[in-house]
Amino acid sequence: MAYVITRSCCNDASCVAVCPVNCIHPTPDEPDFGTSEMLYIDPAGCIDCGACVPACPVNAVVADFDIMDRDISFADLNASYFTEPDNQDYPGAQYNANRPTVQVEDRDRLRVAIVGSGPAGCYAAEELLARRGLGADVHMFERLPVPWGLVRSGVAPDHQDTKLITKQFSRTLGREAMTLYLNVEVGRDITHEELAANFHAVIYAVGAAGDRKLDIPGEDLPGIHPATDFVSWYNGHPDFAGRVFDVSAKRAVVIGNGNVALDVARILASDIDRLRRTDIADHAITALAESQVEEVVVIGRRGPHQAAFSTPELIALSQQRDIQLSVDLTGVQEEVDRSPIAGYRSTLLRRLADCPTPGSGRRLVLRFLASPVEVHGTDRVTGLRVVRNELLVSPHESASIRATDVVEEIATGLVLRSIGYRGSGPPGVPFDADLGIIANAGGRVVRPSGHEQPGVYATGWIKRGPSGVIGTNKRCAQGTVDLLIEDYLTGRLPTPYAPVEDLQRLLVARNPHVLDYQDWLAVDRQEVAAGRVAKRPRVKLVDRHSIVDVAAAARSAAEARSLDPL
Ligand code: NAP
Repeated sequence: MAYVITRSCCNDASCVAVCPVNCIHPTPDEPDFGTSEMLYIDPAGCIDCGACVPACPVNAVVADFDIMDRDISFADLNASYFTEPDNQDYPGAQYNANRPTVQVEDRDRLRVAIVGSGPAGCYAAEELLARRGLGADVHMFERLPVPWGLVRSGVAPDHQDTKLITKQFSRTLGREAMTLYLNVEVGRDITHEELAANFHAVIYAVGAAGDRKLDIPGEDLPGIHPATDFVSWYNGHPDFAGRVFDVSAKRAVVIGNGNVALDVARILASDIDRLRRTDIADHAITALAESQVEEVVVIGRRGPHQAAFSTPELIALSQQRDIQLSVDLTGVQEEVDRSPIAGYRSTLLRRLADCPTPGSGRRLVLRFLASPVEVHGTDRVTGLRVVRNELLVSPHESASIRATDVVEEIATGLVLRSIGYRGSGPPGVPFDADLGIIANAGGRVVRPSGHEQPGVYATGWIKRGPSGVIGTNKRCAQGTVDLLIEDYLTGRLPTPYAPVEDLQRLLVARNPHVLDYQDWLAVDRQEVAAGRVAKRPRVKLVDRHSIVDVAAAARSAAEARSLDPL
């Protein structure tokens, strides 16, 4: 037998570190680690020890004899990776996950502020707190009254296994040397300069919350929305809870075909009773229960070989029993598969083109080689004009396109633009507007003069742009923290001149509703308890006041308990 990695793989390589025979690849030391869609276990090398099972933070590893029908394809996919000659030649030594011990002499105890509590911020905190010999105090600032960034407000509600990573992050946030400030916006409640005065270093892990535009006529009509807004809405992000998405049309169109596009298309096409069992926001259940959508069309501007969705997500979608998935390969030319994984994926797409899945519900159609050129409608969207593209040259995933003169009108009342996230600059921090990231070199912020600025760092999407899966941020955070520690040990960090208590007093004076980790645990308990009653993982609180009220009630109850002489 062998173990198999399945869809929810987060790529953080925790499994790699514990494998005694180095049969899980790519490892963080291998060149394709940063671009691999997931990690794979070599069935020929696996010795069935099972060490990778508890190490996986998202329950993605299963024994092949225990595998569920829906995951059987992943056994083939894992094996496919190792049919590539380059992937067979791996050394027997295991990847060394142990980070070097730090020798700190004659230095003040390192005090670091992290802005953002998503995966990038949590991995950075974990890295600082777990580094032997360092002894750092970490203070994390989050704009929302709840933590976890995109794990809470981005990961799809029907991907609960992916959200298990928060158990690992909770262990970090619960550490003694960690202080969490929720409901605190840097730039509003506190400035960058104030943070810099109180800490040796500030790490920005603020993600990329904005979206990119198509710049086509009609794009601002009601009925066309950024997919990122739709995601935040159905996931109960407080800033989006009041949004309205009109689902009264028979056809919805999603532009772009990355994993976010597949997420929003799947949520639109899903059976509402399946969604009711997830932690999707209540307001989304109410709205989607009235949906008249019968078909969701996902449009990619290039061909299937270049599609941005990942193979695990395609496999999972093809196994969705409540959705009829079909693939339209009109105009697509045969291409040589660049790897066994690419071959696996094209075979699956061709199979779906010949025969849609027998799902019982709405249709979801993947289309290729089409670009939107105009959105139609007078007071709201009624249609989309697309132009057929041809691939110019075909060096696989980097192929570019040329528009032909074939155009088509697609009737639709809802268009979701899913063409990528875009970061915005925190006030007072150098920003590269072209790339939509904080200007940085390996994570160290770079001033407009071109000089590096020890003491200010970036990690995650705001450092490298919106790419990769959750675990990709671990390696990214390690890179940033390595530089920060180097600056600390070489005395290049500015010395904080104000005690952190001053900052805490200032914060509370400016914003009486700052929440901490204990407050979050109270909110978490309340959500999970409500979920238990409703047979759901949790029922999310989606407005700031309710969250603050639950935290305040829990604080009062704890205070009353502590005063009670019995
Ligand atoms: P993405 O993967 O970068 O996909 C963006 C899509 O938009 C691509 O199909 C791209 O096409 C298309 N596009 C860009 N500009 C366009 C234009 N002007 N006209 C038409 N199409 C255009 O971005 P994403 O889907 O937002 O995902 C962001 C990251 O989060 C990715 O790394 C993704 O894997 C990750 N994520 C992972 C999961 C998961 O693992 N389940 C879920 C959600 C997100 P081209 O390829 O032709 O540029």
